[in-house]
Parts: sequence; structure tokens; C-alpha cells
Amino acid sequence: MTAGIEIKGWCPGARRPMQSGDGLIVRVRPHSGALSVSALRELAAAARRFGNGEIDLTRRANLQIRGVRAETLTPLWDLMASLGVLDDSAELEAIRNIVINPLAGLDPAELTDMRPVAAALEALLGSDDALQALPAKFGFALDGGGRLPLRNLAADIRLVACGSADDPHIAVGLTGPDGVEWLGSTALADAAPVAAKLARTVLQHSPTRRSAMLPPHAITIVAVELGLDARETIASGAASPRLGRLPLAGDSNAVGLGIPFGRIDSETLEQLTELLASLDVSEVRLSPWRALYVAAESDSAAALVADAARLGLIVDDTDPLMRIDACSGVGCCTSTALATREHARVLAAAMVRTGFAGALHVSGCAKGCARSASADVVLVGEGDHYNIVRNGTVKNEACDVIGPADLAAAADGLFKSREKAHV
Ligand code: SF4
Repeated sequence: MTAGIEIKGWCPGARRPMQSGDGLIVRVRPHSGALSVSALRELAAAARRFGNGEIDLTRRANLQIRGVRAETLTPLWDLMASLGVLDDSAELEAIRNIVINPLAGLDPAELTDMRPVAAALEALLGSDDALQALPAKFGFALDGGGRLPLRNLAADIRLVACGSADDPHIAVGLTGPDGVEWLGSTALADAAPVAAKLARTVLQHSPTRRSAMLPPHAITIVAVELGLDARETIASGAASPRLGRLPLAGDSNAVGLGIPFGRIDSETLEQLTELLASLDVSEVRLSPWRALYVAAESDSAAALVADAARLGLIVDDTDPLMRIDACSGVGCCTSTALATREHARVLAAAMVRTGFAGALHVSGCAKGCARSASADVVLVGEGDHYNIVRNGTVKNEACDVIGPADLAAAADGLFKSREKAHV
């Protein structure tokens, strides 16, 4: 099933773009997940001018400009440098894997604004040559709490605010083979140095340089060395609405705008930035769940929700597209001949008809780029058909096979008969 898959072995960056079926992928890593509306407009225009006009939102709250050509890479770098989102080296950009809450500093329900911690951690990562040996997939999740927590985001090292807004402290967690191990808590001011020290420990003692392979004795030693306060366990947060108008306090709102499959074309993104500018919105926040966030007063928020829906963005949490992960498929990737996202839209209609409330993963091949977590229904492309996996990942054994031509007719049965072994 895995024949013909090209494993790239790294995450694309800007200094080190990745070759894909539609050209180079150049990743843009905004600091603390924030871009000015004018910078986003310039990046949208750059995607059309220097790439093929397609832009991805990644699960690390970054942007990816697709279809860049070797001859347009340098002018794209120049633009990124002028916007302050180009690192000096591939190593530096690779370790700047820090995700914070998209409403940091805006949400009155958060315990603390994690942007200063993120900035301090970025500076520490950039000033320590040894840390540049961290693998590109090594990640930090900095969760200040509030209505959009990061509790379920995969990350090697987690810093989570706890206590009270008047006296917050930071719980420190490390993702081990069996989930997150909470090591204790530290003062807010010490959170970034503690995270950097933990990363150094992982580098020294983990054979894969990832936290999941850190030996238990190393975890015990570092927990003592860090002098953390008593251990505490952080529970997973309950799901709350993430899209559309999200009232914050008084007339203040956040607006969450979901991007179908995390892909938007430059024309639509430019239209969105024009709309935001007309509503006096100055900044856009990226999230790790393929949605953009802005702050707006109530009247502007209502207008934005309506206009964004007209642009094809998702403003309703119940939209089945938010429960589908589908990789880019044919035309963008040479590992498949299947139009994964087109097929996913066919299946989305069936999800609505059947009331299916689970997660669907449509993958062009067994690499499963779009989703590593388990899904209720998984379609795994192989040649001209999909293998069907239930309650698993692309790696699990398939229970049946379906061809693209049969999707429309068989889709309802696919979701109605979840308990059956075969469709
Ligand atoms: S999962 Fe999709 S994007 Fe990833 S290699 Fe396979 S076909 Fe390409």
C-alpha cells in the first residue's frame, strides 16, 4: 500500500521549501500567530505572483504558499523579510514551532496572555545553537486558557496557565508515549527558560530527539532540576463554539472564519482582507484548526460573518467540512490520482443527510498527510480507488473498497452503517 510514496522527512519552511506536485511549498511562520491585515493582503498577492495562487493554513498555525517556482523564490523571500516573517536560516525557522491561543490578549476569559512567553521562548531558541538540532516537528503549545484553549493540540512541550487571572502560574507538561506527563508548575516569568531547558533535556536524552522517547529516568531528573512546584494535571477542555461571532465582553467580539480543508485561493484571501480593512480590522490571528480570527465590534462582526460566508468561508461549527480532513490530492501531489477534496465535498453532503456527527479523513494515499489522529471513517487512496478504514487511521486494516464513481450513491450507506464491518 505504501509503494510510490515519497517521504520527505521534514516540514517545509521558507528557507527550505518542499517540492510538491504543484511546485515549491513555502511556509510562512507569523510570530505569535498574528499578521496585520495589510501583511496578509501582501502575502495573498505574493501567492498569486510568485506561486500558483493557492494558500494553506497548517495545523501549526502557519501559512503555506504553494506552487512557488525556483526563480520566484528570492523575490518572495524579499517580501517576507520586509514583513518580518523570514528567519535568517532554515535551522532557525524549523525550531520556531510555537503555537499560542488565537485570541491571546483579546479574550477576557484567558488566565494570561501567552504572547510575551512566546516571544521570550523564540528568543531563547534563536540564541542557543544547541537547540537548533531539535527536529522540525518538535513543537511547543503555550495555552493561556480562555474560550479557545489548546488542550488537544499535539506538542512535545506544553505550558498551560492555571491558578487565577490575578495570580497565574504555568503548568509544565511533556508528551510521553502514553500522553502528557505534567511535571509541575512554575512562575509565569520562568516559563520560557523552563521550556528551553526541557527541550535541551529531550535533545540530550531522547534517541529520536522527540519528547515521546525521553527515558523515564531523564524525566525524573529534569523535573527535580527545574525545581517545579507540586505536580498538577490539566484536564482536556470541553469543546465550545469556535466559528462565527464569539461574544467576548460588552461590544467586543471575536469572529472565527473556517477555511475549507485549510486551503484558500489568493483572490478570496485578498477579498477577505479588503473586507476586514473596510471594517477597521487591523490584525488577523491564525489557529491550529484551520480558522482565522479577528476582533470586531458587534455590528462589524455580524457583517463580517455574513460576507465571509458569501466568500465560501465557514462560520458555523456544525458545518461538516470542519469535521473532514482531506489532503490536497491530484494536481498538487504526485502520490495520488484521486481528487480527494472534490470527493470529500460529495461525502460532506451525505454527512448532513445522514446526521453523521463523526470525523472523516479522505487521504490520497497511505501517507495520510492531512490527519494523524484516528477518524470514524477513513478513505485511503490506492491507485484508482479508496480503501475504507473504520475507527482508525490510514495505517489500519481496511474493511472494504470504494471507487470514486460510486461515492455519491454509496455515501449515505457509508455513514449510516458505521457499526457494520463492510459497506
Ligand atoms: S496523503 Fe495526500 S498529500 Fe500526502 S502524499 Fe499522499 S496523496 Fe500526497
